[in-house]
Amino acid sequence: MAKVSPFSAGINCRCPECGEGQLFRGYLEMNDECAACGADFTVADSGDGPAFFVMWIAMIVIVPLGMLFHLWLRPPVWVHLLIFPPVIILFCLWLLRPAKSLLFASQWANKAEEAQFEKHADQQN
Ligand SMILES: [Zn+2]
Repeated sequence: MAKVSPFSAGINCRCPECGEGQLFRGYLEMNDECAACGADFTVADSGDGPAFFVMWIAMIVIVPLGMLFHLWLRPPVWVHLLIFPPVIILFCLWLLRPAKSLLFASQWANKAEEAQFEKHADQQN
């Protein structure tokens, strides 16, 4: 079996082992195993990492756009409040799923021991 690129599998929300099976069964809810190769998806968990990175990227991208928008048109504050909250929410929702998949694929490719350790520690408590 050819080695699957974690970046390719992550961006396409596919199994990081075979690159075929769907990673998600809902918007962010992951399958327990790959339907194509049977890889166990419960051994790794990306936790809050994707949300942090998506918020950070949203800040880097959208705040300068808001500032440029303000400098260009000088709109009143209510126009900003009307435009930017939906833009931020839609941007984050658009990016969150591939970010979660990408971090999961990265954990999978690097055999992240911490994720497995935390999982087993939770089961013992
Ligand atoms: Zn698979």
